[in-house]
Amino acid sequence: MGLIPYKNEEYLDWSDKETVEKMRAALNEVGDELGRSYPAIIGGKPVETDGEIFSVNPANPSQVVGRVAAAGEREADMALETATKAFESWSRTAPEARARVLLRAAAIMRRRKFEMLAWEVYEGGKPWAEADAQFAEAIDFLEYYAREMLRLKDGVEIYSVPGEESRYFYQPMGVGVIIAPWNFPTAILTGMSSAALVTGNTVIMKPSEFTSVIGAKVAEVFAEAGLPEGVLNFLPGYGSEVGDYLVQDPRTRFISFTGSVKTGLRINELAAWQIEKQRWIKRCIVETGGKDAMVIDDSADLDDAAADIVKSAYGNAGQKCSAASRAILHADIYDEVLSSVVEKAQALKVGVPNDPEVYMGPVISEPQFEKVSGYIETGKDEGERLLGDDPGDPERGYFITPTIFGVDPEARVAQEEIFGPVLSVIKARDFEEALSIANDTPYGLTGGVYSKNREHLERARREFRAGNVYFNRSITGALVGVQPFGGFGMSGTDSKAGGPDYLPLHMLAKTVIERF
Ligand code: NAP
Repeated sequence: MGLIPYKNEEYLDWSDKETVEKMRAALNEVGDELGRSYPAIIGGKPVETDGEIFSVNPANPSQVVGRVAAAGEREADMALETATKAFESWSRTAPEARARVLLRAAAIMRRRKFEMLAWEVYEGGKPWAEADAQFAEAIDFLEYYAREMLRLKDGVEIYSVPGEESRYFYQPMGVGVIIAPWNFPTAILTGMSSAALVTGNTVIMKPSEFTSVIGAKVAEVFAEAGLPEGVLNFLPGYGSEVGDYLVQDPRTRFISFTGSVKTGLRINELAAWQIEKQRWIKRCIVETGGKDAMVIDDSADLDDAAADIVKSAYGNAGQKCSAASRAILHADIYDEVLSSVVEKAQALKVGVPNDPEVYMGPVISEPQFEKVSGYIETGKDEGERLLGDDPGDPERGYFITPTIFGVDPEARVAQEEIFGPVLSVIKARDFEEALSIANDTPYGLTGGVYSKNREHLERARREFRAGNVYFNRSITGALVGVQPFGGFGMSGTDSKAGGPDYLPLHMLAKTVIERF
């Protein structure tokens, strides 16, 4: 296939008046569509369910963004049956044809960009630039995995002994259950689904209950892109109600999950059991949380470091698995960096994301608001609050202002994933101690070092225990195909989404040897 070389989708320029106008127009148009109903889609047909999810705007919880079907076991069973049947033909469809569906989905997403961004704002509470960045990531996944499939379609080179031919190639696996979180509702759902689809599997796609409407829009794009009926089955629902059933069913071949450690471990455990009639060991791709640290040493450019700490900590209100939730500062520069971080964080505009200047919107939901509020109380007991207000009334939106605590490394707020705009700042005697503090959590997703000291950087290159380590820059916003993403330790199975090893996780590698 003659494709142009892969290139990351460009971000929109919010200083451009026309772009801002287009976004305002999209917000108005989508505003008129709020409150509609979305069924499950199984085998290309809408399926009504007994239950319903009321998905609300986190900036204004009395506003219903959409009413979405809540699948139960009956619908899960239908979806598994349909996906199993559809696998027979989709797995035999040429890889080029499968790749073309992804390329077409990318083109549709580009055409529908402003509309889809508006849904991100209403349902995800995302500021415009954040919505755009994660939407660009969704397009990147489609473009990148299409090309990756073309690279892998004939297998990879191995050696043969004289008189024989050895071939090593990949085959699709079966039915994949795709379970996504709410924080990158388009990107992660699209990325996990497209990887499973382009490799010839059929899928059951379950978005987070909090971003089910966006899930419906992603499913719509795949259908519009020409995916045959039954290849992707959209199954919105409450994870606690439908998740175990999907994971345990013997027809499920693999599970691709992104979310919390707790749910990820449960999936791993349930998937390990062999159920009657099950003829395989289920594969689990499980990517989870982080407690990501930025280490700043005494040689660093301090103003840049402070700016990147703020960017990494508060983008998307800290609701990124890659977010900096710990800043570990060398004692000699602690005061200077801290005061700069406080000053910069204080200046961030928090509010309803209805103009491009808003940097931080609400957190996603009431449970998330309660969880973060609880950690703010804990932080007040454990250390000194250096910035932040007590959270207000959640009925007026789930807003939490940028918060900073000065704490010891073993404080709960410095050890547990909060997933909100809360940063723990920790003082370290020297670089050695800073690195050891950074590595001392069960997680290992992202990390960063700000330093001009070559020895420190080389040491961190080897010893920083994280799947994605960044030097002298922010630690979020991994680019597909450029910064493959996935964590160590309790942060996941290190699947490296957006990287060269990702697609093979969705396939069976086969070796065939013929003697001549
Ligand atoms: P979550 O509560 O674990 O939910 C993730 C998904 O799992 C949702 O679709 C959820 O459905 C579903 N689920 C819940 N219980 C289930 C069960 N028993 N069986 C199967 N599925 C079940 O996580 P979240 O709060 O949505 O997401 C935030 C977490 O994701 C954070 O920890 C963050 O660090 C992590 N994350 C990691 C990455 C990465 O690449 N490593 C990227 C983004 C986010 P419901 O929504 O209906 O409950």
